[in-house]
Amino acid sequence: MVRVGVVGGGRAGVEAGLEAASKGAKVTLFEGASRVPDWRNSWPDLLTSSPPPIRDTHSLLEAEGVEVLLGETVLSVDQGLVVSGSRVRRRFDAVVVATGSSPALSRFVGSGKTGVYVLDGPQAYVEAGRHVGSADWVVVQGEGILALRVADRLSSRGLGVTLLRRRPLAGLTEVDSMLVSAAAARRVSIVQGQVEAAAGQGRVQAVVSGGRVHACEALLVLPELSPRLPRVPVTLGRLRGIRVEEDQSSSSPGLYAAGSCSEPALRPPCPGISRTSSSPGRVAGANAAGGILSLRCSPSWSEELFGLAFSATGQSLEEAALAGLDASRVVVRRGSSALCCVVYERRSLRLLGIQSAGLGPGHSAALAVAVGQSAHLSALADLSSADSTDISLVAEAVRQGLGWSV
Ligand SMILES: Cc1cc2nc3c(=O)[nH]c(=O)nc-3n(C[C@H](O)[C@H](O)[C@H](O)COP(=O)(O)OP(=O)(O)OC[C@H]3O[C@@H](n4cnc5c(N)ncnc54)[C@H](O)[C@@H]3O)c2cc1C
Repeated sequence: MVRVGVVGGGRAGVEAGLEAASKGAKVTLFEGASRVPDWRNSWPDLLTSSPPPIRDTHSLLEAEGVEVLLGETVLSVDQGLVVSGSRVRRRFDAVVVATGSSPALSRFVGSGKTGVYVLDGPQAYVEAGRHVGSADWVVVQGEGILALRVADRLSSRGLGVTLLRRRPLAGLTEVDSMLVSAAAARRVSIVQGQVEAAAGQGRVQAVVSGGRVHACEALLVLPELSPRLPRVPVTLGRLRGIRVEEDQSSSSPGLYAAGSCSEPALRPPCPGISRTSSSPGRVAGANAAGGILSLRCSPSWSEELFGLAFSATGQSLEEAALAGLDASRVVVRRGSSALCCVVYERRSLRLLGIQSAGLGPGHSAALAVAVGQSAHLSALADLSSADSTDISLVAEAVRQGLGWSV
């Protein structure tokens, strides 16, 4: 029987443990905390008045026969040998490292004022959600989809929001500008900047950023995250996470990694959070148990934000260029409410990525498969407009890419 060690009981580690056990491996999961964290689909939902249900992961693991060692912070993993702080030493045929990431400290003038919430865990979300209820306007500081989700959930409670972020969504220029307009229609103003100071007597009443003052009754800060790792003899990526191949293997034989402590060598990082852990966790667990899976599905996310559906799968034009590909793209729009951007390799006409805004939900999974399989543009050119006017926008972009008259 293959012995698999899993380090970390977050989403990635639990998925890896369950998958390895289901493949017949004898699995031991090391969790540094005193309990395996429960799953919540999305922390920003904790800001709403109807928080999402919790799934008890410990019982899922027990049901699959996974041995769970709690309070065991792993110090090092080397050639299958896992050493923890309490001097437990166990040898495994393969190990999955899934130790997640840590929030950086958020320090600025006035960061200690009442009404400033650093969203560094589910409890902080619950706390902030409880206190901002009576506010009219709040400021959120943060990047990426997570910050947009937070702004969306606050706006759904009727609050006005100023979202301060340093940069737009990387590589998603068109989608991002549609997001900004959709947000503005819901009393969410998205501004480039960063909190320099929280001002007010005792409690925050305004935020200073780039010489501007934003009046508010609360400030919610999303901290930056960085990979958290035990000692592992592996090659690290650009962001200091464990560099992994498509089968989640690292440069060290028998050592796999998944979740936010890892960095795909080939795929660009995905702007979503939770979806980046589940599938890689499952692939890592299956392969640690002797499987031969490969995560060919491209990174993708789809979200409804500010009343519009947004999705992105595969590479943007910028990411394709960074990967050294000769890529091109076509953007088609329907008024100001929908757009589709198709990115493809110029010579082979293979799909590299699709980004969309305003198309109904439901297409994103199929498009992710098409992109993940590097489908030829012509595979999507005949999508029938009879069934759905949404999908016809994708077909139109693809036909333009093929040079067909539309
Ligand atoms: C600021 C912030 C915001 C987040 N927002 C969301 C969100 O909106 N939605 C969402 O689903 N998730 C969110 N997460 C959680 C996390 O990023 C996601 O769950 C993501 O899926 C990463 O999962 P993971 O399994 O890689 O890591 P984590 O969920 O971080 O799990 C890692 C686990 O490993 C354990 N561990 C770490 N080091 C060791 C060690 N040396 N030995 C043993 N155990 C160890 C930790 O205790 C933890 O249980 C957020 C996290 C942070 C910090």
